[in-house]
Formats: sequence, C-alpha cells, structure tokens
Amino acid sequence: MKLEYIPTVCPYCGCGCGLNVVTIDGKVEGVEPWKRHPLNEGKLCPKGNFSYQFVGRDDRLTKPLIKENGEFREASWDEATSLIASKLEEYRGEDPDSLAFLASARCTNEENYLLQKFARAVIGTQNVDHCARLCHGPSVAGLAKTFGSGAMTNSISDIEESSCIFIIGSNTAEQHPLIWRRVLRAKANGAKLIVADPRVSPTAKMADIYLPFKPGTDVPLMNAMMNVIIEEGLEDREFIEKRTKDFEKLKETVKNYKPEEAEKITLTPADKIREAAIEYAKADSAAILFAMGITQHITGTDNVVSTANLAMLTGNVGKRGAGVNPLRGQNNVQGACDMGALPAFYPGYQKVIEEDATEKMSCAWGCSDLKCTPGLTVVEMMNAAAEGKLKAMYIMGENPMVSDPDIQHVKESLENLEFLVVQDIFLTETAELADVVLPASAWSEKNGTYTSTERRVQYIRKAADAPGEAKDDWQIICEIANKMGADGFKFSSAEDIFEEIREVTPQYAGMNPERLVKPEGLHWPCPDETHPGTPILHTEQFATPDGLGIFFPVEYREPAETPDSEYPFILTTGRIIFHYHTGTMTRRSETLDREVPTGFVEINDEDALELGIKNGDMVKVKTRRGEIEITARVTPEIMKGVLFIPFHFAECAANMLTSADELDPEAKMPELKVSAASISK
Ligand code: SF4
Repeated sequence: MKLEYIPTVCPYCGCGCGLNVVTIDGKVEGVEPWKRHPLNEGKLCPKGNFSYQFVGRDDRLTKPLIKENGEFREASWDEATSLIASKLEEYRGEDPDSLAFLASARCTNEENYLLQKFARAVIGTQNVDHCARLCHGPSVAGLAKTFGSGAMTNSISDIEESSCIFIIGSNTAEQHPLIWRRVLRAKANGAKLIVADPRVSPTAKMADIYLPFKPGTDVPLMNAMMNVIIEEGLEDREFIEKRTKDFEKLKETVKNYKPEEAEKITLTPADKIREAAIEYAKADSAAILFAMGITQHITGTDNVVSTANLAMLTGNVGKRGAGVNPLRGQNNVQGACDMGALPAFYPGYQKVIEEDATEKMSCAWGCSDLKCTPGLTVVEMMNAAAEGKLKAMYIMGENPMVSDPDIQHVKESLENLEFLVVQDIFLTETAELADVVLPASAWSEKNGTYTSTERRVQYIRKAADAPGEAKDDWQIICEIANKMGADGFKFSSAEDIFEEIREVTPQYAGMNPERLVKPEGLHWPCPDETHPGTPILHTEQFATPDGLGIFFPVEYREPAETPDSEYPFILTTGRIIFHYHTGTMTRRSETLDREVPTGFVEINDEDALELGIKNGDMVKVKTRRGEIEITARVTPEIMKGVLFIPFHFAECAANMLTSADELDPEAKMPELKVSAASISK
C-alpha cells in the first residue's frame, strides 16, 4: 500500500486554505489540514474537510458526449474536438462576435488565461466573462474608481490586527470560515465588531453593534455613518489632505443623510448608526469586510464606492488592520479576474478600451483583429442569445442554469443558441443543454495556480489521475486551438502557461516556480523577482494615475423592485456553510449533503403568524419571474418583511425568482439581492 500526502489548496471558497490530499495507491481517500500553511494553520471548515468526496463519484464525466436527436452519445476526443473546431471556424467566419465564452472561477489561472486568449486571439471577440460578474464585478469597478485597483487591500492575517471590524453584506462566519477565525481572534484581542445585515446571521450574533437594515439601503446607511463622522469632527484631516481628492464633494452629499433621515429608509435605529460611526472612526485601525450582500445590486458599484469613501474619510487605507476588503466567493475568482476573463480587461486589468493595451496584447499573441471595444457581460450574453444575436457559446466550468438570475430566461437563451459547448466535471444542469460536453479533470487531478481573495497566488498539485478520458481544461483548449491551426497554444504543462502569464501580467511578473513553491505563495503585485509581494496595498499612494484616492459622492437610488400589494416581501438570497454555489460539488459530497439536503425559505415569526405559516410547512414563494415550492423556516432572526433563500438548490432555485431586467450601469450586475415577492401556504 502506498500512502501519499500531496500539499495543495482547497477547491471551495476564496480563503485559499492549504490542505493535503491523501491518496492510497493513487486513489484520493481523504484530506488532511496543512499545519504549516500560513492562512489556515492546520484548520479547515466542513467544506474543506470533505472536499475529496465528490472527486471519486460514479457520475463524473469520463468521455466526450455529442448530442444527436436530443440524446447524448459517447464520442472520441478527436471527433468531439474536430466538430467544435469546425463549428467555431464557421461562426468566426460569419462574425466573431456571434460567439461568446464563459471562463470559470473554479479553474486555474492557467486555464482562465488560455480561454480568454483563445476567445481574443483565435476567435477575435472580446465576449469573454465569468461568474465574477455576478459576485464581485462591482468590487472591481468601485475600488478601481476610488483606489485605482479592485481587490482586497489587506491580507487575511492582517484582520487580526484590527481594532474595529465593520462587516456589511457578508455572513463571514458561514461564507469564509477561516477569515471569520481571524475576526474572532481580533475580537478576543479587544476589537469591536460592527455587523450590518437584514438577518441576525451567525456573524451578526457575535456583533458588539448590530445594525439591522432593509436590503438595498446600503448607500444611505453608509452615508449616514459618514454624516456622523464629519459632524463629530472625527474625519482624518491629514489623510484626506495628503492622500485624497474631492472630499468637499463627498461632504456636500452626505450632509443630507442625517441618521434620523436614513432611519426612515434603512429602518436602522438612528442611535445605532451614530454608535457604529463613532466606534469605527475612533478606532486606531478599522477594517471593512464585505461580500455579495452589497455587490449583488443594481447599485453594487455605488455600495462599494461608499465603503471606499468611508475608509478614506477615516484614514483607514494603506495600514495594518485596516482597509476595504471584498471577500471573494470562489477559490479562484480573483485569479480569473486577474487573468482577464472579463470583457473589458486583458490580464492584469489592462483596459480593452486603451489602444496601447490592445496593441501590446495583439503583439504578444500574434493577432491583428482585436477591437478596443469591451465585449458582452454574462447577462448581456444571455439577452443576446435570446434575441438570436449570439449563435454559439463555449462554457468552461460554470453552471448558469443555477447561478444566473431568472433561470427560465437563461434556459430559453441557451436553448436558442445554435451551438453550445460545455466542459465540466459533471453533467450539470447547463451541460444537459449542450450540443457537445467535454469531460474535465477536477482540482485534485491537475497542476496550476489559484489566487485567493487576499491576492495570494499558490500552487495546486496533481494528486491522482482524472477518471476515464477526462483532461485538464487547458489541454482541451489547446487541442481545439491547434485543430483550428492557431499559433501560441503548444503548451506542454501548466508551468509553461504560467511563464507566458508572467510576461503579459505586470502584477505576476516576479513570480517564478522557486518562489511559488513555498507554502506562503506570493501576494500580487509582485513586479520583479526580487520583490517580496504586497500583502497591503496603497501604503504610500493609491493606484490611480496621480496616486490620490478619489472620493465619489453617491446618492441613494431605490432597488429595481420595491414591495407592493401583490408582492409585499423583499426576497434576498445567500449561502450556507455546508454548500457552495450551485451545489455541483457539495451536493455530491455525502457528508455535506446529509447536513442540509435541500433549500428553505426563512420568514420572520410575526410575518409567519399573520399568514398562518408554521415552521416546516411547504410554501409557495412567487415573484414576477416565477414561483417555487420550498420548506418554511420560521425565525425571529430575520427582519419583518424580508425572506431569505439559499441559492444552492436547483429543485427550489432561488434564481428562478430573481431578475435580470435591470443592471448596474457600470458593473452590469443584476438585482440579485432584492426581489419583490409573495409567500403563501
Ligand atoms: Fe476551503 Fe474556504 Fe473552508 Fe478554507 S474556509 S477550508 S478555503 S471552504
């Protein structure tokens, strides 16, 4: 018997915990925490502990599948990739923009880099995006506007140094358990914890100051906090003068948001807003943590800008224990963004609209027809498919049939395509609609790098062979590109691809295999091989052209939908600790699935009493998009008038109910966190 421990990184959330995959005679049998790993120090949450269970499932895809007369049949790799290459050539010949590509926050940096390169350099379209659009697109847009860089400003371990932590729009205890551990350590050291949430979540239960607020009212809440800080003279004048500009514009706007006025909109007691504002402003170092609770709105960019305004106002940027920290959801969503799997950015956030950047990438990739016009975003792709403007899509490791808003619309859009390719590890709800399905290897079956939410780039390592004929995603892309006669896809390993990434991505330039092999990896930016990496951003100056942070005043805008007599509740959505996004992996883990086998809707106990709904009743939740049947959980731990559904469960999919009708004007985020809804027995 051969027992091996292969050090790698957890495939689930953006914390980037290190673990060892345990194999016996080459078969994955378990995981062990990696005790020397600097982030998780030998601890794992339930998802990490059971992350090996889905890998060996019998329903893994093992052969390419081609659909004929509505049924899948097995095919050889040669047949499947030849069919794809000829179809893509056909559409490219007609119009490159009739094709669109979805990359994946679950795949490696190398695989995301190659898919966006394939879309741009081989097909000639900027239509490449991924699910970051539906989680932290506004974080990238909002922080790029204010700080010049759209990522977590501080490291995870740094949170422990905070003397005050303000969490808004994040149930950190369940979503990012190993970040939550640092929050608890900071609290044990005397830090004050402020949590704003419509639910008394496990995170909110630990707060020193809890701010209940109505979903969609983040801007007035934070404007009111800034109003108090300025009224009380608690702003950091030296920081504002030396490091920022446009403070007067902010002051002019927030003066209209007195806590008593904000209370009418947010339903947060004015005295609580005052208390939180003063606590945050007086702290030596105050950190803001946020997640999809503030980004998944049509005002998502405004909400993120508000967090940046608040931090700059109090001088809480560029120092230990402070900062503005978007907690990225998926294991490699940061990396997929870094790699340019976004329609407006090349690798390293070089802007598509800038001619110099387009020229640089065209030279690097040896192509000549790249346009300086951003491509379609995720929701725009679905709309274009529904209208018949998009003819074909290539989806790598994403499941929009569960993750995207208004699933009925997504289904109609995907069914309206002439040609759909999906490569994944299971026959997902999206793969079932494909014309060709390609079997991919899972995280424990390949080499490469992931970039965690704290910008830490780390190696993942192959522990076992993929089942059947499944291949690494990068190998599949190369095979199709080579069949199409493209240059620049003759890679023999993930390491080869990373060498090219370093050449075109300034933030990754100093990362080489000798440096990345260490357990601590490297935080970008790391511009050369002598640079130690950057755990804290903006210490001396911001990443804006003149080095100054920019205050952007933001006015309150109502959500796309507000309750009315037909739909009197606000439906909001979120995650739970045992499951991960669309459930493709966690629902195939017997231990995790046993804990929470299906979805539920949380309703306030007084609302439930009025409607005659009891705990455990089967209820119907309805919005203008559709309706689902789901079990009621009656609880005092959610605000009156608000419903909450976790979005992991396809059979009672929260996204059957959410809307894609309106989008954030900058980040193109739909209104995922606020839908007008009704509930009945
Ligand atoms: Fe994995 Fe995230 Fe849990 Fe760490 S906190 S073990 S990265 S799911």
